[in-house]
Order: sequence, then C-alpha cells, then structure tokens
Amino acid sequence: MKEFDLIGRYFKDGGHQRKDVLVGIGDDCAITAMPVNQQLAITTDTLVSGVHFLEDAPARSVAYKAVAVNLSDLAAMGAEPAWISLSLSMSHVDEGWLEEFASGLYELTRYYAVQLIGGDTVRGPLAMTITAQGFIPPDTALKRSTAKPGDWIYVTGTTGDAGAGLALLKGECEAKDADRDYLVKRHLYPTPRVAVGTALRRTASSCIDVSDGLLADLSHILHASGCGATIHVDRLPISSQLFNCMGAQDAYRYALTAGDDYELIFTVNEEQRGNLETSLASTGVKATCIGQVTGHSGKVDLKLYDKEYLLESAVGYEHEF
Ligand code: ADP
Ligand code: MG
Repeated sequence: MKEFDLIGRYFKDGGHQRKDVLVGIGDDCAITAMPVNQQLAITTDTLVSGVHFLEDAPARSVAYKAVAVNLSDLAAMGAEPAWISLSLSMSHVDEGWLEEFASGLYELTRYYAVQLIGGDTVRGPLAMTITAQGFIPPDTALKRSTAKPGDWIYVTGTTGDAGAGLALLKGECEAKDADRDYLVKRHLYPTPRVAVGTALRRTASSCIDVSDGLLADLSHILHASGCGATIHVDRLPISSQLFNCMGAQDAYRYALTAGDDYELIFTVNEEQRGNLETSLASTGVKATCIGQVTGHSGKVDLKLYDKEYLLESAVGYEHEF
C-alpha cells in the first residue's frame, strides 16, 4: 500500500480552506462546525469507469463530474454546499492521471468554496464515491413530493446537450467543430445549478436535477406528488448546437430523454410565478416554462404546437441491477 501514500500529496490541500473545518484531511476524522439555525443536507454519488464515464475520459473531467453531480443534488434541494469527502478506488497509481484528477476536483471546490475534508483510497477497479454536505435553513428544502396541480413546470438552461456530447464521443453522430466542442464539453464538464437551487428555496414548490433525462426525472416529481403533467415539446429549451447536430426531431428526443445535463426541473405555483424572475436575476441562469402540473396522476401529455406528440424512443440511460 506504500505507493498509495502518494495520494496524500494530491489531496491533502483540500482545495479551499473554510473556517468551519476545524480538523481537515490527515486525522482519523474531519471535524467541522455547524452554523446556527441551519440543517445539514447530505448526498452521495458513485461514478464507475465504463459505466458512468468512458474509460478513456480525461481525469480532469472525471473529477469535475464526480463533484458536479453531488453539488447538483444539493442544488436540487436548495442547499448551499460546504464539504465533500472522496473515496477513490484505483488499480494503480498513475501520477499524471492523479494530478489532472486533483486539478479537476479543485477547480470546482474553489469555485463553490467547498472543502475536501477527507476520504479513503483503495486498490480496485477505477471508481469514486463522493459525499457532499451542505446547509439549508429549517423547512426550506425543495422536495420532490410537494408539486400541486396547476403549478408551472420550469427547466434551467438547455437539455439534451450532454447526451449528444456522449453520442458524439462514441461516434454515433457527427457535428461541425464548434457545435461538437460545445456538446462534448456539456457532457464532460456539467455545471451544477447551485445558485439557482438556493435562490428557489422560497419560490419553487418542488425541484429535482436532470440526471436520467427530463421526462424520467420529472416523473419522479409527479410520482412523489401524485400528479401528472402537460409538457409542450415546442417550448423545450434546446441549444442551437443540439439543433444543428441532430435536427428538430432528434433534438426533441434528446431534450426529453437524454441524461447527464444536471439542469434543474422545478415547479412554481401561480402565486409565486411573479417572483421567479427576481429570484433568478442574480444567478444569471435562464429558466424556461415547459408546461403545467395536472391532477391526472402518473400521466404525462406531450404536445407539439398543441397537437399530441408521440415520442418514438428514449435515449436516456436506465441502470439495470
Ligand atoms: P485511516 O487509515 O485512518 O482511515 P487513511 O490512511 O485512509 O487513514 O487516510 C489518511 C487521511 O487522508 C485521512 O484524514 C483521510 O480522510 C485522508 N484521505 C485518504 N484518502 C483520501 C482521498 N482520496 N481524498 C481525500 N482525503 C483522503
Ligand atoms: Mg482509510
């Protein structure tokens, strides 16, 4: 295990030094101070090589994504990220790979003022588990179970891009260079919508992040809330790059069903709708209204220019166990 001592070289820095970390990396446990009047939100996500990222994915992207997907879960609850820990499994020590991995990790921790406070390093197939913890004022968490019929459905940014980026990397489609660069970057370096999550605490009635695809993740809200939805496919926020690469029909299909965009889907009731623009103003992120929650439990009606829209097949990825 000696060579694994090297790990200390890459991770002992922690990325960002926070005052509430009383004992960081290097002891048996980390010790942190909790702010008064805040609750703790805790989430864990594992990425496995060949399953959640391509085996030849750049190390910087792998680390970036591992942190981003966890921060995205915190964002989806409206929590402000504070600390992460990292359990890393590697078959061997590759210093070049580790250096890049650490740089990708610290890029995000510094940006979001999050500190790496500990972890574990083991020998095994390439995989990593990150646990992230963040703060949330009592009774302000954005849950999946609290959407109501009549609420408006919004999504941040654009969807389908990351799925197209993956398809491009796998050689399943083609795009001109500038479009390809954009779409591949959306797949390799997803942006967690942290500021949007905290800004929506008092405005949104429910929220979830898009990891499995817009329809799949929206259906989690609908299921938990006992509702249905009408979605206007022609109103979906789709990037010009995705349109150029796929054409309208496949762009709709990707926007509805491809995963890994890490945008937020949220609902807002009629009363709060007027506050939405103000809430999001400081975040610089655009949210688009794509439909409305209905009382038809479990039923999602897709419309294209007010006519019924039939989705031929999904591109979203469902993990099988
Ligand atoms: P122990 O055997 O007591 O669990 P380790 O040798 O596993 O200690 O870890 C030593 C210190 O380095 C601990 O503080 C641990 O949290 C930290 N650490 C180990 N691996 C990582 C990692 N991949 N990322 C961040 N911190 C790590
Ligand atoms: Mg250990």
